[in-house]
Amino acid sequence: MSLNRRNLLKFGAISVVAAATLVGCKKEAAPTKACDTYKADSSSILGKHKIVVIGGGFGGLTTAKALKKKDKNFDVLIIEKNETFMSCPFSNALLGKLDGVNLGTLTHDYAQPIEAHGYDMLHAEVTNIDRAAKKIYTTKGVVEYEILVLSPGIGYDYENQFKNWDTKKIKHIQRVAPAALISGKEHVILDRNLVDMDDGDVVITVPSGKYRCPPAPFERAAMIAAYMKKEDIEGKVIILNPSESIAKGAAFKESWKDLFSDRIEHREYCVVTDVDPIAKTITYSDENDDDNIISKTIKYEVLNLIPNNKASSVIAMSGIETTTAFGKVVMNGCSFQTKTDPDIYAVGDVVGHAIPPSGQTANWAGKQCADEIANRLHGKSYTLPVKTATAKAANVCYSTVGDNPEEAIFVTHDFTWTGRVIKGKGHVPKAPSGKFRSALSAKANRDWYNGIMRDLFT
Ligand SMILES: Cc1cc2nc3c(=O)[nH]c(=O)nc-3n(C[C@H](O)[C@H](O)[C@H](O)COP(=O)(O)OP(=O)(O)OC[C@H]3O[C@@H](n4cnc5c(N)ncnc54)[C@H](O)[C@@H]3O)c2cc1C
Repeated sequence: MSLNRRNLLKFGAISVVAAATLVGCKKEAAPTKACDTYKADSSSILGKHKIVVIGGGFGGLTTAKALKKKDKNFDVLIIEKNETFMSCPFSNALLGKLDGVNLGTLTHDYAQPIEAHGYDMLHAEVTNIDRAAKKIYTTKGVVEYEILVLSPGIGYDYENQFKNWDTKKIKHIQRVAPAALISGKEHVILDRNLVDMDDGDVVITVPSGKYRCPPAPFERAAMIAAYMKKEDIEGKVIILNPSESIAKGAAFKESWKDLFSDRIEHREYCVVTDVDPIAKTITYSDENDDDNIISKTIKYEVLNLIPNNKASSVIAMSGIETTTAFGKVVMNGCSFQTKTDPDIYAVGDVVGHAIPPSGQTANWAGKQCADEIANRLHGKSYTLPVKTATAKAANVCYSTVGDNPEEAIFVTHDFTWTGRVIKGKGHVPKAPSGKFRSALSAKANRDWYNGIMRDLFT
């Protein structure tokens, strides 16, 4: 193991975290648009806004910007709990220590888009929504709205997956083996755990049911394998998957076989039942043979426990109709208006359309949603264009699978809206070499990431 380089990585990780912490607005800063000046009194009425967007992530930032582009006089407020934006897309590249990628690559300040696009932002956590009174309760006070857009992303469902875990154990696991599907400290912890690790195995668990960015655990496996190889860390990346399903499966399996056959082990039908974070062991039931289900316990050096996902609790607060599984928002046909309340819209991972939960989809949806709202406020009717009824490659999602040379695979989804909901159909193309992966796709991935960050922040 090359200790000098790894010690440098450790030091680097600490300094970038410190830098990232400093980027956000200071509470005591002089009043500016970027740094809200609301007093921390959760019962005071903070004001009324024509359009309030909950969530300053991929969906929320896109919607707010697109609304202001449609009409600069629209009064738009985003409520976002974090002071600094951090991206989930490209975060696996941080774990793989790809050239030039550090926490700064993933981190952005909100001051820039607020100044550029003219919407307002309240940094507070939404704690309740009174739909009848059109009031949003936050940790800093109450905000009234005329139109509400929900883009709060996902939450984790440890409670239902691990019924015998109490809150203390869940919190402990979140600290030492974070899922890193929600941006922020979880990625920082996982990165630190990898930088600090000794020889041994890394275990990644795949959630059941719908979850954010289905290729993410598998891309992460490749990036961690690349990192371990680069740092001469002896050990494997073991993926515990409760099914056999892998998003972009053929493409991932091909690259794992070609590049990391001695490193990555994908174990199908393995359902996690418990974790002992002190002994650093994980227990799962191997269900490959229905007649002979075996409980197995293995040791890990680093654990990335990704639990089952559900919609952010903000969705339940709004009291609108949701699906039973995951709690996705039931939509009003092929629109971004909710079925329950014509004054509430939804975008991003919580949307109840049959389209993939990705940042690119959230960006596409945010623009459609803003169109819908702008037309309504301008007294015009609006539907997605029925003539074409298709958006080609509305979603493109890359996954880096190798670091030397840097190579990626990708999937595109065409969206259609001829039925009850908007649907996506995926296609995973091969490169001219006959393989799924290519250096060209890796470059396209970096270009995509830089492009979407520009779209959100400038
Ligand atoms: C490892 C990984 C890799 C990924 N790679 C890609 C990729 O390559 N391409 C791609 O297109 N997508 C990718 N994704 C998926 C992408 O990150 C999500 O689909 C996207 O972020 C969804 O946007 P959203 O607006 O629904 O949620 P988010 O972007 O998560 O935004 C939600 C926001 O709401 C805020 N919020 C939540 N609750 C509250 C509250 N109570 N009060 C106030 N604010 C609140 C959150 O702080 C957050 O800022 C990846 C995801 C992961 C985890």
